[in-house]
Amino acid sequence: MPVCPNCKYEYVKGIDRCPDCGSELVDQLPPEIILNESDWVVIYTTSFDYEAEMLKGNLESAGISATILSQKDSSFPAPGDLSIIKLLVKKEDAESAVTFLNEFKKSLKSENEEDETE
Ligand SMILES: [Zn+2]
Repeated sequence: MPVCPNCKYEYVKGIDRCPDCGSELVDQLPPEIILNESDWVVIYTTSFDYEAEMLKGNLESAGISATILSQKDSSFPAPGDLSIIKLLVKKEDAESAVTFLNEFKKSLKSENEEDETE
């Protein structure tokens, strides 16, 4: 799984740049610097609280436990006003969570045809 060499967070495949520090993610870190609580993996990042809460609720209703981590809770200062909220799931749930999120985003898209940003 891609990992940020600075922040030590792991990300799911498809994310290639750390949303916190802008570093390019690397494939893996030397084992000694992986976070102890590394059974959690970041599957989604957003700057909107409500979006994180909504996705967390949706994942949980699908039987996937999720947790939200925002820089407001952390002790290191965020650059500027940028507040990145991370949505984490257990590693063993990561694949199904990503599948779930993709399906969920698809369904959002078809509901908001006029809001095409891609
Ligand atoms: Zn980083």
